[in-house]
Amino acid sequence: MPKRGPRRPQHTGRRPAHHTNWPLKRPGEQPVPQSLCEKCAGLCCRYLALPIETPTTKADFDDVRWYLAHEGISVFVEEGDWYINIASRCKHLDKDNRCDIYENRPRICRGYTEDNCDYHSGDYGYDLHFASLEELDEYIEQKKYKKKK
Ligand code: SF4
Ligand code: SF4
Repeated sequence: MPKRGPRRPQHTGRRPAHHTNWPLKRPGEQPVPQSLCEKCAGLCCRYLALPIETPTTKADFDDVRWYLAHEGISVFVEEGDWYINIASRCKHLDKDNRCDIYENRPRICRGYTEDNCDYHSGDYGYDLHFASLEELDEYIEQKKYKKKK
């Protein structure tokens, strides 16, 4: 069971706003400076991340193995907390990579800023990141090895 609400992975030191409004220039208005979102393919609207229980038992880890057996799933650990990352394009990201419900977008979207967002880098500074079941198996084996030492 998730222990907290859904979130987006945060780059270290980031703090939140999101998608500069659209269109950038309405008739009769002065153009505003181009935003990063203007140049971006809506990277932050193509996945969601949910907290999961920290695995402690063999069965818990096996459940995480099951998540990772699925396409588009990865698991990461940030500040000791475990999250499942699901690659899924938001249904409201339009063909021009704009939010088609901008005025009514969810709270999580409103709390996201283009300062240090996905556009800048793929490096989130995760403690751990597993893109496959095999990577998790390797981690489990390493843990066992360390215990034996
Ligand atoms: S990843 Fe950043 S630049 Fe791209 S749409 Fe999201 S907030 Fe804008
Ligand atoms: S609702 Fe809009 S801002 Fe939120 S993820 Fe979807 S397209 Fe992006």
